[in-house]
Amino acid sequence: ETVKPTNFIHQIIEKDLAEQKVAGGQVITRFPPEPNGYLHIGHAKSICLNFGTAEKYQGVCHLRFDDTNPEKESQEYIDAIAEDVRWLGFKWAGDIRYTSDYFEQLHQWAVYLIEQGKAYVDSLSAHEMREFRGTLTEPGRNSPYRERSVEENLELFERMRNGEFDEGDCVLRARIDMAAPNMNLRDPVIYRIRKAHHHQSGDKWCIYPSYDFAHGQSDAIEGITHSICTLEFEDHRPLYDWFVENLPVPAQPRQYEFARLNLNYTVTSKRKLKLLVEEKHVAGWDDPRMPTISGLRRRGFTPASIRNFCEMIGVTRSNGIVDMGMLEAAIREDLDANAPRAMCVTRPLKVTISNFDAGAEEWFELPAHPKDESMGLRKVPFTRNLLIEQEDFAEEKPRKWKRLAPGDAVRLRGSYVITCDEVIKDEAGSVVELICSYDPATRGENPTGYKPNGVIHWVSADNSVPCEVRLYDRLFTEANPDGDKERDFHAFLNPESLEVLTESRAEIGLKHAVAESHYQFERLGYFSVDRDSDESRLVFNRTVTLRDSWAK
Ligand code: ATP
Ligand code: MG
Ligand code: MG
Repeated sequence: ETVKPTNFIHQIIEKDLAEQKVAGGQVITRFPPEPNGYLHIGHAKSICLNFGTAEKYQGVCHLRFDDTNPEKESQEYIDAIAEDVRWLGFKWAGDIRYTSDYFEQLHQWAVYLIEQGKAYVDSLSAHEMREFRGTLTEPGRNSPYRERSVEENLELFERMRNGEFDEGDCVLRARIDMAAPNMNLRDPVIYRIRKAHHHQSGDKWCIYPSYDFAHGQSDAIEGITHSICTLEFEDHRPLYDWFVENLPVPAQPRQYEFARLNLNYTVTSKRKLKLLVEEKHVAGWDDPRMPTISGLRRRGFTPASIRNFCEMIGVTRSNGIVDMGMLEAAIREDLDANAPRAMCVTRPLKVTISNFDAGAEEWFELPAHPKDESMGLRKVPFTRNLLIEQEDFAEEKPRKWKRLAPGDAVRLRGSYVITCDEVIKDEAGSVVELICSYDPATRGENPTGYKPNGVIHWVSADNSVPCEVRLYDRLFTEANPDGDKERDFHAFLNPESLEVLTESRAEIGLKHAVAESHYQFERLGYFSVDRDSDESRLVFNRTVTLRDSWAK
Protein backbone atom coordinates (compact mmCIF):
# COMPACT_ATOMS: atom_id res chain seq x y z
CA GLU A 1 0.00 0.00 0.00
CA THR A 2 1.37 3.43 -0.85
CA VAL A 3 0.83 6.63 1.07
CA LYS A 4 0.48 9.68 -1.12
CA PRO A 5 3.37 11.98 -0.20
CA THR A 6 2.36 15.42 1.03
CA ASN A 7 3.04 18.49 -1.02
CA PHE A 8 1.83 21.52 0.91
CA ILE A 9 2.73 23.84 -1.97
CA HIS A 10 0.19 22.08 -4.15
CA GLN A 11 -2.41 22.53 -1.42
CA ILE A 12 -1.70 26.28 -1.37
CA ILE A 13 -1.91 26.54 -5.14
CA GLU A 14 -5.17 24.63 -5.30
CA LYS A 15 -6.64 27.01 -2.77
CA ASP A 16 -5.31 30.07 -4.67
CA LEU A 17 -6.75 28.75 -7.92
CA ALA A 18 -10.10 27.98 -6.33
CA GLU A 19 -10.27 31.49 -4.86
CA GLN A 20 -9.10 33.00 -8.15
CA LYS A 21 -6.12 34.53 -6.42
CA VAL A 22 -3.60 33.56 -9.09
CA ALA A 23 -2.74 36.68 -11.10
CA GLY A 24 -3.57 36.08 -14.77
CA GLY A 25 -5.08 32.73 -13.83
CA GLN A 26 -1.91 30.87 -14.71
CA VAL A 27 0.61 29.46 -12.27
CA ILE A 28 4.13 30.71 -13.07
CA THR A 29 7.08 29.32 -11.14
CA ARG A 30 10.82 29.63 -11.64
CA PHE A 31 13.92 27.63 -10.85
CA PRO A 32 16.62 30.17 -9.93
CA PRO A 33 20.08 28.59 -9.60
CA GLU A 34 23.16 30.66 -9.05
CA PRO A 35 25.67 29.51 -11.70
CA ASN A 36 28.46 28.98 -9.17
CA GLY A 37 28.72 25.19 -9.35
CA TYR A 38 26.97 22.08 -10.60
CA LEU A 39 23.53 21.11 -9.39
CA HIS A 40 23.08 18.38 -6.80
CA ILE A 41 20.25 16.07 -5.79
CA GLY A 42 18.87 18.81 -3.52
CA HIS A 43 18.44 21.04 -6.55
CA ALA A 44 16.66 18.16 -8.27
CA LYS A 45 14.03 18.41 -5.55
CA SER A 46 13.61 22.11 -6.29
CA ILE A 47 13.53 21.48 -10.06
CA CYS A 48 10.91 18.76 -9.73
CA LEU A 49 8.87 20.98 -7.44
CA ASN A 50 9.01 24.10 -9.63
CA PHE A 51 8.70 22.46 -13.03
CA GLY A 52 6.44 19.69 -11.76
CA THR A 53 4.07 22.19 -10.15
CA ALA A 54 3.85 24.23 -13.35
CA GLU A 55 3.11 21.06 -15.34
CA LYS A 56 0.51 19.89 -12.88
CA TYR A 57 -1.49 23.13 -13.02
CA GLN A 58 -0.98 23.84 -16.75
CA GLY A 59 1.30 26.71 -15.89
CA VAL A 60 4.86 27.47 -16.92
CA CYS A 61 8.23 27.48 -15.24
CA HIS A 62 11.15 29.76 -16.02
CA LEU A 63 14.82 28.93 -15.77
CA ARG A 64 16.48 32.02 -14.35
CA PHE A 65 20.14 32.26 -13.50
CA ASP A 66 20.53 34.27 -10.35
CA ASP A 67 23.77 35.86 -11.46
CA THR A 68 24.60 38.65 -9.04
CA ASN A 69 28.04 37.40 -7.89
CA PRO A 70 30.11 37.56 -11.09
CA GLU A 71 33.40 36.46 -9.51
CA LYS A 72 32.01 33.08 -8.51
CA GLU A 73 30.04 32.34 -11.64
CA SER A 74 30.85 31.04 -15.10
CA GLN A 75 29.44 30.00 -18.45
CA GLU A 76 30.59 26.43 -17.76
CA TYR A 77 28.20 26.26 -14.82
CA ILE A 78 25.37 27.83 -16.81
CA ASP A 79 25.74 25.23 -19.56
CA ALA A 80 25.98 22.34 -17.10
CA ILE A 81 22.91 23.47 -15.15
CA ALA A 82 20.78 23.96 -18.28
CA GLU A 83 21.81 20.49 -19.47
CA ASP A 84 20.86 18.93 -16.12
CA VAL A 85 17.39 20.48 -16.23
CA ARG A 86 16.90 19.31 -19.82
CA TRP A 87 18.16 15.83 -19.00
CA LEU A 88 15.71 15.55 -16.11
CA GLY A 89 13.05 16.03 -18.76
CA PHE A 90 11.84 19.55 -18.07
CA LYS A 91 11.32 22.44 -20.46
CA TRP A 92 11.49 26.04 -19.37
CA ALA A 93 9.16 28.57 -20.92
CA GLY A 94 10.85 30.91 -23.40
CA ASP A 95 14.55 31.60 -23.36
CA ILE A 96 16.87 31.13 -20.45
CA ARG A 97 16.56 34.22 -18.25
CA TYR A 98 19.17 35.97 -16.18
CA THR A 99 18.82 38.32 -13.27
CA SER A 100 21.43 40.35 -15.14
CA ASP A 101 18.79 40.94 -17.86
CA TYR A 102 17.13 43.17 -15.26
CA PHE A 103 20.15 45.12 -14.02
CA GLU A 104 18.96 48.30 -15.72
CA GLN A 105 15.48 48.05 -14.20
CA LEU A 106 16.84 47.09 -10.79
CA HIS A 107 19.14 50.09 -10.88
CA GLN A 108 16.20 52.37 -11.67
CA TRP A 109 14.32 50.93 -8.70
CA ALA A 110 17.32 51.54 -6.46
CA VAL A 111 17.30 55.18 -7.60
CA TYR A 112 13.55 55.24 -6.92
CA LEU A 113 14.12 54.09 -3.34
CA ILE A 114 16.73 56.83 -2.85
CA GLU A 115 14.28 59.40 -4.18
CA GLN A 116 11.68 58.16 -1.71
CA GLY A 117 14.17 58.55 1.14
CA LYS A 118 14.20 54.75 1.50
CA ALA A 119 17.80 54.04 0.56
CA TYR A 120 21.15 55.66 1.32
CA VAL A 121 24.80 55.32 0.49
CA ASP A 122 26.72 54.14 3.52
CA SER A 123 30.44 54.76 3.83
CA LEU A 124 31.05 52.69 6.94
CA SER A 125 33.67 49.98 6.53
CA ALA A 126 32.44 46.39 6.41
CA HIS A 127 33.82 45.91 9.90
CA GLU A 128 32.03 48.96 11.30
CA MET A 129 28.85 47.98 9.59
CA ARG A 130 28.94 44.63 11.36
CA GLU A 131 29.46 46.37 14.71
CA PHE A 132 26.55 48.73 14.06
CA ARG A 133 24.31 45.87 13.08
CA GLY A 134 23.73 44.72 16.66
CA THR A 135 22.90 41.16 17.63
CA LEU A 136 19.84 39.00 17.95
CA THR A 137 19.33 40.33 21.47
CA GLU A 138 20.53 43.91 20.94
CA PRO A 139 19.19 46.41 18.45
CA GLY A 140 21.56 47.87 15.89
CA ARG A 141 22.65 51.51 15.73
CA ASN A 142 22.09 53.93 12.90
CA SER A 143 25.02 54.64 10.64
CA PRO A 144 26.23 58.26 10.77
CA TYR A 145 25.60 58.32 6.99
CA ARG A 146 21.96 57.34 7.36
CA GLU A 147 20.75 60.95 7.23
CA ARG A 148 22.46 61.90 3.99
CA SER A 149 20.18 63.96 1.78
CA VAL A 150 18.41 62.51 -1.23
CA GLU A 151 20.58 64.69 -3.50
CA GLU A 152 23.81 63.57 -1.90
CA ASN A 153 22.71 59.91 -2.09
CA LEU A 154 21.74 60.22 -5.75
CA GLU A 155 25.08 61.78 -6.56
CA LEU A 156 27.09 59.22 -4.57
CA PHE A 157 25.16 56.31 -6.08
CA GLU A 158 25.77 57.73 -9.55
CA ARG A 159 29.48 57.93 -8.75
CA MET A 160 29.42 54.36 -7.46
CA ARG A 161 27.96 53.30 -10.77
CA ASN A 162 30.59 55.28 -12.67
CA GLY A 163 33.41 53.42 -10.96
CA GLU A 164 34.69 56.39 -8.97
CA PHE A 165 35.00 54.33 -5.76
CA ASP A 166 36.90 51.22 -4.89
CA GLU A 167 35.29 47.99 -3.78
CA GLY A 168 34.27 48.29 -0.15
CA ASP A 169 34.37 52.11 -0.05
CA CYS A 170 30.60 52.32 0.15
CA VAL A 171 27.37 50.42 -0.42
CA LEU A 172 23.74 51.28 -1.01
CA ARG A 173 21.45 50.24 1.83
CA ALA A 174 17.69 50.14 2.17
CA ARG A 175 16.57 52.47 4.96
CA ILE A 176 14.25 50.26 6.98
CA ASP A 177 14.82 49.81 10.71
CA MET A 178 18.08 49.25 12.59
CA ALA A 179 16.13 48.03 15.60
CA ALA A 180 14.05 45.44 13.77
CA PRO A 181 14.08 42.08 15.56
CA ASN A 182 14.58 40.46 12.15
CA MET A 183 18.22 41.19 11.29
CA ASN A 184 17.42 41.11 7.57
CA LEU A 185 15.44 44.32 7.99
CA ARG A 186 18.31 46.24 9.62
CA ASP A 187 19.06 48.38 6.61
CA PRO A 188 20.17 45.55 4.32
CA VAL A 189 22.81 46.18 1.67
CA ILE A 190 21.15 46.32 -1.75
CA TYR A 191 24.07 47.31 -4.00
CA ARG A 192 27.79 46.77 -3.64
CA ILE A 193 30.80 47.64 -5.77
CA ARG A 194 32.42 44.73 -7.60
CA LYS A 195 34.94 45.58 -10.27
CA ALA A 196 34.53 42.25 -11.93
CA HIS A 197 33.83 41.12 -15.45
CA HIS A 198 30.39 39.58 -15.67
CA HIS A 199 29.76 36.50 -17.83
CA GLN A 200 26.57 38.05 -19.26
CA SER A 201 26.78 41.82 -18.88
CA GLY A 202 30.51 42.09 -19.54
CA ASP A 203 32.06 45.24 -18.11
CA LYS A 204 28.88 47.30 -18.21
CA TRP A 205 28.41 47.33 -14.44
CA CYS A 206 30.70 47.72 -11.48
CA ILE A 207 27.86 47.75 -8.95
CA TYR A 208 25.75 44.64 -8.43
CA PRO A 209 22.45 44.13 -6.61
CA SER A 210 22.27 41.83 -3.59
CA TYR A 211 20.32 38.57 -3.73
CA ASP A 212 17.53 40.09 -1.65
CA PHE A 213 17.20 43.17 -3.82
CA ALA A 214 17.27 41.19 -7.05
CA HIS A 215 15.18 38.15 -6.30
CA GLY A 216 11.67 39.37 -5.56
CA GLN A 217 11.88 42.13 -8.14
CA SER A 218 12.95 39.64 -10.81
CA ASP A 219 10.00 37.47 -9.78
CA ALA A 220 7.75 40.50 -10.19
CA ILE A 221 9.15 41.33 -13.63
CA GLU A 222 8.53 37.77 -14.79
CA GLY A 223 5.06 37.58 -13.25
CA ILE A 224 6.03 34.67 -11.00
CA THR A 225 2.95 33.72 -8.98
CA HIS A 226 4.56 31.30 -6.53
CA SER A 227 8.21 31.90 -5.70
CA ILE A 228 9.30 28.68 -4.04
CA CYS A 229 12.55 28.49 -2.11
CA THR A 230 14.14 26.65 0.79
CA LEU A 231 13.49 27.33 4.46
CA GLU A 232 16.68 29.28 5.14
CA PHE A 233 15.01 32.14 3.25
CA GLU A 234 12.03 32.20 5.55
CA ASP A 235 13.30 35.17 7.52
CA HIS A 236 14.15 36.99 4.29
CA ARG A 237 10.47 36.95 3.37
CA PRO A 238 9.63 40.20 5.25
CA LEU A 239 12.34 41.88 3.19
CA TYR A 240 11.08 40.27 -0.02
CA ASP A 241 7.65 41.69 0.79
CA TRP A 242 9.06 45.08 1.78
CA PHE A 243 10.64 45.59 -1.65
CA VAL A 244 7.54 44.40 -3.47
CA GLU A 245 5.43 46.82 -1.42
CA ASN A 246 7.77 49.79 -1.63
CA LEU A 247 8.63 49.66 -5.33
CA PRO A 248 6.43 50.26 -8.39
CA VAL A 249 6.80 46.62 -9.48
CA PRO A 250 4.42 45.21 -12.11
CA ALA A 251 3.18 42.25 -10.01
CA GLN A 252 2.94 41.03 -6.42
CA PRO A 253 4.73 37.69 -6.21
CA ARG A 254 4.79 35.72 -2.98
CA GLN A 255 7.48 33.55 -1.51
CA TYR A 256 6.88 30.07 -0.05
CA GLU A 257 9.51 28.02 1.70
CA PHE A 258 9.97 24.25 1.88
CA ALA A 259 12.53 22.00 3.60
CA ARG A 260 15.83 21.35 1.85
CA LEU A 261 16.69 17.82 0.92
CA ASN A 262 19.55 16.33 2.91
CA LEU A 263 20.79 12.82 2.13
CA ASN A 264 22.85 10.69 4.46
CA TYR A 265 26.42 9.58 3.62
CA THR A 266 26.95 12.61 1.40
CA VAL A 267 26.97 16.40 1.43
CA THR A 268 24.52 18.60 -0.47
CA SER A 269 26.18 21.95 -0.61
CA LYS A 270 27.74 23.34 -3.76
CA ARG A 271 30.52 24.89 -1.74
CA LYS A 272 31.55 21.58 -0.21
CA LEU A 273 31.15 19.67 -3.45
CA LYS A 274 33.35 22.27 -5.11
CA LEU A 275 36.03 21.61 -2.49
CA LEU A 276 35.88 17.88 -3.21
CA VAL A 277 36.51 18.65 -6.88
CA GLU A 278 39.22 21.27 -6.32
CA GLU A 279 41.05 19.12 -3.80
CA LYS A 280 40.80 16.16 -6.15
CA HIS A 281 39.05 13.82 -3.74
CA VAL A 282 36.91 13.00 -6.76
CA ALA A 283 37.66 13.11 -10.49
CA GLY A 284 35.31 16.01 -11.24
CA TRP A 285 31.80 17.37 -10.70
CA ASP A 286 30.41 14.41 -12.61
CA ASP A 287 32.37 11.75 -10.74
CA PRO A 288 29.88 8.90 -10.24
CA ARG A 289 30.35 9.14 -6.46
CA MET A 290 29.12 12.73 -6.40
CA PRO A 291 25.52 13.55 -5.45
CA THR A 292 25.47 16.00 -8.36
CA ILE A 293 22.89 15.46 -11.08
CA SER A 294 25.69 14.96 -13.59
CA GLY A 295 27.41 12.50 -11.22
CA LEU A 296 24.22 10.52 -10.71
CA ARG A 297 23.69 10.50 -14.46
CA ARG A 298 27.15 9.15 -15.05
CA ARG A 299 26.67 6.60 -12.30
CA GLY A 300 23.67 5.30 -14.26
CA PHE A 301 20.68 6.97 -12.60
CA THR A 302 17.85 7.72 -14.99
CA PRO A 303 15.78 10.93 -15.07
CA ALA A 304 12.70 8.88 -14.17
CA SER A 305 14.36 7.45 -11.07
CA ILE A 306 15.33 10.89 -9.80
CA ARG A 307 11.88 12.30 -10.49
CA ASN A 308 10.25 9.35 -8.74
CA PHE A 309 12.54 9.79 -5.77
CA CYS A 310 11.58 13.47 -5.50
CA GLU A 311 7.94 12.46 -5.67
CA MET A 312 8.41 9.85 -2.92
CA ILE A 313 10.06 12.21 -0.44
CA GLY A 314 7.28 14.78 -0.72
CA VAL A 315 7.44 18.50 0.03
CA THR A 316 7.07 19.67 3.61
CA ARG A 317 8.37 22.33 5.95
CA SER A 318 10.22 20.01 8.31
CA ASN A 319 13.91 19.40 7.85
CA GLY A 320 15.22 15.87 7.98
CA ILE A 321 17.76 13.55 6.48
CA VAL A 322 16.62 11.17 3.78
CA ASP A 323 18.16 7.72 3.59
CA MET A 324 20.38 7.09 0.57
CA GLY A 325 18.58 3.74 0.40
CA MET A 326 15.49 5.56 -0.88
CA LEU A 327 17.36 7.02 -3.82
CA GLU A 328 18.82 3.62 -4.56
CA ALA A 329 15.43 1.97 -4.32
CA ALA A 330 14.16 4.39 -6.95
CA ILE A 331 16.84 3.49 -9.48
CA ARG A 332 16.61 -0.22 -8.68
CA GLU A 333 12.90 -0.17 -9.42
CA ASP A 334 13.43 1.55 -12.79
CA LEU A 335 16.31 -0.66 -13.89
CA ASP A 336 14.71 -3.86 -12.68
CA ALA A 337 11.88 -3.16 -15.11
CA ASN A 338 13.89 -1.68 -17.95
CA ALA A 339 17.52 -2.81 -17.99
CA PRO A 340 18.38 -5.78 -20.22
CA ARG A 341 20.18 -8.62 -18.50
CA ALA A 342 23.72 -9.66 -19.37
CA MET A 343 26.61 -11.61 -17.91
CA CYS A 344 29.93 -10.13 -16.92
CA VAL A 345 32.76 -11.74 -15.00
CA THR A 346 34.52 -9.10 -12.95
CA ARG A 347 37.37 -11.08 -11.29
CA PRO A 348 37.93 -13.91 -13.74
CA LEU A 349 39.05 -17.45 -13.04
CA LYS A 350 39.92 -19.62 -16.07
CA VAL A 351 37.80 -22.68 -16.65
CA THR A 352 38.87 -25.15 -19.36
CA ILE A 353 36.20 -27.55 -20.57
CA SER A 354 38.32 -30.61 -21.30
CA ASN A 355 35.64 -32.44 -23.31
CA PHE A 356 34.73 -29.49 -25.56
CA ASP A 357 36.70 -28.98 -28.80
CA ALA A 358 39.07 -26.02 -29.02
CA GLY A 359 37.81 -23.67 -31.73
CA ALA A 360 34.21 -24.90 -31.49
CA GLU A 361 31.37 -22.59 -30.45
CA GLU A 362 27.90 -23.53 -29.35
CA TRP A 363 25.42 -20.69 -29.05
CA PHE A 364 22.77 -20.34 -26.40
CA GLU A 365 19.82 -17.99 -26.46
CA LEU A 366 18.83 -16.29 -23.24
CA PRO A 367 16.00 -13.82 -22.63
CA ALA A 368 17.15 -10.21 -22.45
CA HIS A 369 14.67 -9.78 -19.60
CA PRO A 370 13.03 -12.53 -17.54
CA LYS A 371 9.73 -10.64 -17.19
CA ASP A 372 9.58 -8.79 -20.48
CA GLU A 373 9.53 -10.91 -23.63
CA SER A 374 9.33 -7.84 -25.84
CA MET A 375 13.00 -7.20 -25.06
CA GLY A 376 13.89 -10.27 -27.11
CA LEU A 377 16.72 -12.75 -26.86
CA ARG A 378 20.48 -12.46 -26.56
CA LYS A 379 23.04 -14.96 -27.82
CA VAL A 380 26.04 -16.19 -25.88
CA PRO A 381 28.72 -18.60 -27.10
CA PHE A 382 29.89 -21.61 -25.10
CA THR A 383 33.54 -22.46 -25.84
CA ARG A 384 36.36 -24.58 -24.48
CA ASN A 385 37.85 -21.66 -22.52
CA LEU A 386 35.45 -20.00 -20.14
CA LEU A 387 35.67 -17.54 -17.25
CA ILE A 388 33.81 -17.58 -13.96
CA GLU A 389 34.10 -15.33 -10.90
CA GLN A 390 36.93 -16.25 -8.54
CA GLU A 391 34.36 -15.90 -5.77
CA ASP A 392 32.25 -18.65 -7.29
CA PHE A 393 34.85 -21.32 -6.60
CA ALA A 394 35.96 -22.58 -3.19
CA GLU A 395 38.58 -25.22 -2.69
CA GLU A 396 37.32 -25.84 0.84
CA LYS A 397 33.63 -25.29 0.46
CA PRO A 398 31.65 -23.75 3.29
CA ARG A 399 28.40 -25.40 4.40
CA LYS A 400 25.49 -25.00 2.02
CA TRP A 401 27.82 -23.82 -0.78
CA LYS A 402 25.79 -22.96 -3.86
CA ARG A 403 28.69 -22.59 -6.24
CA LEU A 404 31.61 -24.61 -7.62
CA ALA A 405 34.02 -26.78 -5.62
CA PRO A 406 36.39 -29.65 -6.48
CA GLY A 407 34.38 -32.67 -7.62
CA ASP A 408 31.12 -30.67 -7.53
CA ALA A 409 28.81 -29.58 -10.32
CA VAL A 410 27.14 -26.22 -11.07
CA ARG A 411 25.01 -25.00 -13.91
CA LEU A 412 26.47 -22.22 -16.00
CA ARG A 413 23.55 -19.84 -16.36
CA GLY A 414 21.53 -20.59 -19.49
CA SER A 415 23.83 -23.40 -20.68
CA TYR A 416 25.35 -26.66 -19.46
CA VAL A 417 26.11 -28.22 -16.12
CA ILE A 418 29.86 -28.56 -15.55
CA THR A 419 31.84 -30.58 -13.00
CA CYS A 420 35.19 -29.50 -11.58
CA ASP A 421 37.69 -32.32 -12.16
CA GLU A 422 41.00 -30.68 -11.39
CA VAL A 423 42.35 -27.53 -9.73
CA ILE A 424 45.54 -25.93 -11.09
CA LYS A 425 47.60 -23.63 -8.88
CA ASP A 426 50.58 -21.38 -9.43
CA GLU A 427 53.83 -21.60 -7.44
CA ALA A 428 52.40 -19.35 -4.74
CA GLY A 429 49.51 -21.73 -4.26
CA SER A 430 46.79 -19.57 -5.77
CA VAL A 431 44.14 -21.25 -7.89
CA VAL A 432 44.68 -20.15 -11.50
CA GLU A 433 42.59 -22.55 -13.52
CA LEU A 434 39.94 -25.21 -13.21
CA ILE A 435 39.73 -28.19 -15.52
CA CYS A 436 36.08 -29.09 -15.85
CA SER A 437 33.91 -31.35 -17.97
CA TYR A 438 30.49 -30.44 -19.30
CA ASP A 439 27.50 -32.74 -19.45
CA PRO A 440 26.06 -32.63 -23.01
CA ALA A 441 22.76 -34.03 -21.75
CA THR A 442 22.07 -30.91 -19.67
CA ARG A 443 21.20 -28.47 -22.42
CA GLY A 444 17.79 -27.36 -21.21
CA GLU A 445 17.51 -30.54 -19.09
CA ASN A 446 18.27 -31.44 -15.51
CA PRO A 447 21.16 -33.90 -15.08
CA THR A 448 20.34 -37.46 -14.13
CA GLY A 449 21.99 -39.12 -11.16
CA TYR A 450 23.53 -36.01 -9.58
CA LYS A 451 22.52 -32.53 -8.48
CA PRO A 452 24.39 -29.29 -9.28
CA ASN A 453 25.07 -26.95 -6.32
CA GLY A 454 23.50 -23.94 -7.99
CA VAL A 455 23.69 -21.60 -10.96
CA ILE A 456 26.58 -19.21 -11.60
CA HIS A 457 27.30 -16.65 -14.32
CA TRP A 458 30.12 -17.04 -16.83
CA VAL A 459 31.45 -15.79 -20.15
CA SER A 460 33.47 -17.32 -22.96
CA ALA A 461 37.15 -16.42 -22.63
CA ASP A 462 37.53 -16.79 -26.39
CA ASN A 463 34.57 -14.69 -27.47
CA SER A 464 33.69 -11.90 -25.01
CA VAL A 465 34.47 -8.20 -24.58
CA PRO A 466 37.25 -6.93 -22.33
CA CYS A 467 36.02 -4.31 -19.93
CA GLU A 468 36.77 -2.27 -16.88
CA VAL A 469 34.27 -2.34 -14.06
CA ARG A 470 34.14 0.48 -11.54
CA LEU A 471 32.53 -0.27 -8.21
CA TYR A 472 31.48 2.57 -5.95
CA ASP A 473 30.88 2.74 -2.26
CA ARG A 474 29.51 5.60 -0.19
CA LEU A 475 31.64 8.74 -0.39
CA PHE A 476 31.65 9.24 3.39
CA THR A 477 31.98 6.74 6.20
CA GLU A 478 29.62 8.67 8.48
CA ALA A 479 25.89 9.01 7.90
CA ASN A 480 26.11 12.70 8.78
CA PRO A 481 29.55 13.92 7.67
CA ASP A 482 28.64 17.43 8.84
CA GLY A 483 27.50 16.29 12.25
CA ASP A 484 30.79 16.37 14.16
CA LYS A 485 31.67 19.54 16.05
CA GLU A 486 35.41 18.86 16.19
CA ARG A 487 36.12 17.60 12.69
CA ASP A 488 34.77 18.76 9.35
CA PHE A 489 33.46 16.51 6.60
CA HIS A 490 36.95 15.83 5.21
CA ALA A 491 37.65 13.60 8.19
CA PHE A 492 34.96 11.20 7.06
CA LEU A 493 35.88 10.73 3.40
CA ASN A 494 35.79 7.03 2.56
CA PRO A 495 39.23 6.07 1.20
CA GLU A 496 37.68 2.99 -0.38
CA SER A 497 34.86 4.60 -2.29
CA LEU A 498 36.18 3.43 -5.66
CA GLU A 499 37.36 0.00 -6.75
CA VAL A 500 38.46 -0.56 -10.35
CA LEU A 501 38.46 -4.05 -11.85
CA THR A 502 40.42 -3.94 -15.09
CA GLU A 503 40.38 -7.63 -16.05
CA SER A 504 36.63 -7.99 -16.41
CA ARG A 505 34.92 -9.49 -19.44
CA ALA A 506 31.33 -9.14 -20.57
CA GLU A 507 29.29 -11.28 -22.94
CA ILE A 508 30.00 -10.57 -26.59
CA GLY A 509 26.63 -8.99 -27.34
CA LEU A 510 27.73 -5.92 -25.35
CA LYS A 511 30.51 -5.18 -27.80
CA HIS A 512 28.76 -2.11 -29.20
CA ALA A 513 27.05 -0.99 -26.02
CA VAL A 514 26.70 2.78 -26.09
CA ALA A 515 27.54 5.24 -23.33
CA GLU A 516 24.80 5.62 -20.72
CA SER A 517 23.05 2.38 -21.64
CA HIS A 518 22.00 0.25 -18.67
CA TYR A 519 22.35 -3.45 -17.91
CA GLN A 520 21.71 -5.77 -15.09
CA PHE A 521 24.79 -7.96 -14.79
CA GLU A 522 23.24 -11.09 -13.42
CA ARG A 523 24.01 -11.63 -9.74
CA LEU A 524 26.19 -8.47 -9.60
CA GLY A 525 23.98 -5.43 -9.84
CA TYR A 526 22.97 -2.71 -12.29
CA PHE A 527 25.63 -1.15 -14.46
CA SER A 528 25.85 1.68 -16.94
CA VAL A 529 28.32 2.24 -19.76
CA ASP A 530 30.70 5.08 -18.94
CA ARG A 531 31.74 7.56 -21.57
CA ASP A 532 35.38 6.64 -20.93
CA SER A 533 34.72 3.51 -23.01
CA ASP A 534 36.62 3.18 -26.29
CA GLU A 535 37.43 0.63 -29.02
CA SER A 536 39.83 -1.29 -26.79
CA ARG A 537 37.65 -1.60 -23.71
CA LEU A 538 34.23 -0.88 -22.36
CA VAL A 539 33.95 0.85 -19.00
CA PHE A 540 31.02 0.06 -16.73
CA ASN A 541 29.94 1.91 -13.61
CA ARG A 542 28.04 -0.03 -11.03
CA THR A 543 24.97 2.10 -10.49
CA VAL A 544 23.61 0.08 -7.61
CA THR A 545 23.74 -3.43 -6.20
CA LEU A 546 20.82 -5.81 -6.67
CA ARG A 547 19.71 -5.50 -3.07
CA ASP A 548 20.01 -2.79 -0.46
CA SER A 549 23.64 -2.69 0.62
CA TRP A 550 23.18 0.38 2.80
CA ALA A 551 21.32 -1.34 5.57
CA LYS A 552 23.41 -1.10 8.72
P1 ATP B 1 24.02 25.36 -2.14
O1 ATP B 1 23.80 25.68 -0.70
O2 ATP B 1 24.26 23.93 -2.41
O3 ATP B 1 25.01 26.26 -2.82
P2 ATP B 1 22.03 27.11 -3.06
O4 ATP B 1 20.71 27.18 -2.40
O5 ATP B 1 22.99 28.19 -2.77
O6 ATP B 1 22.62 25.68 -2.80
P3 ATP B 1 21.08 27.88 -5.61
O7 ATP B 1 21.75 27.78 -6.91
O8 ATP B 1 20.85 29.23 -5.06
O9 ATP B 1 21.91 26.98 -4.61
O10 ATP B 1 19.72 27.04 -5.62
C1 ATP B 1 18.72 27.11 -6.59
C2 ATP B 1 17.44 26.64 -5.97
O11 ATP B 1 17.59 25.31 -5.48
C3 ATP B 1 17.06 27.50 -4.78
O12 ATP B 1 15.69 27.81 -4.87
C4 ATP B 1 17.37 26.65 -3.60
O13 ATP B 1 16.53 26.97 -2.53
C5 ATP B 1 17.16 25.23 -4.14
N1 ATP B 1 17.96 24.27 -3.39
C6 ATP B 1 19.28 24.31 -3.15
N2 ATP B 1 19.67 23.29 -2.37
C7 ATP B 1 18.56 22.55 -2.11
C8 ATP B 1 18.29 21.37 -1.35
N3 ATP B 1 19.25 20.73 -0.71
N4 ATP B 1 17.03 20.91 -1.32
C9 ATP B 1 16.05 21.54 -1.98
N5 ATP B 1 16.22 22.67 -2.70
C10 ATP B 1 17.46 23.18 -2.77
MG1 MG C 1 24.67 29.25 -2.72
MG1 MG D 1 21.12 30.27 -3.30
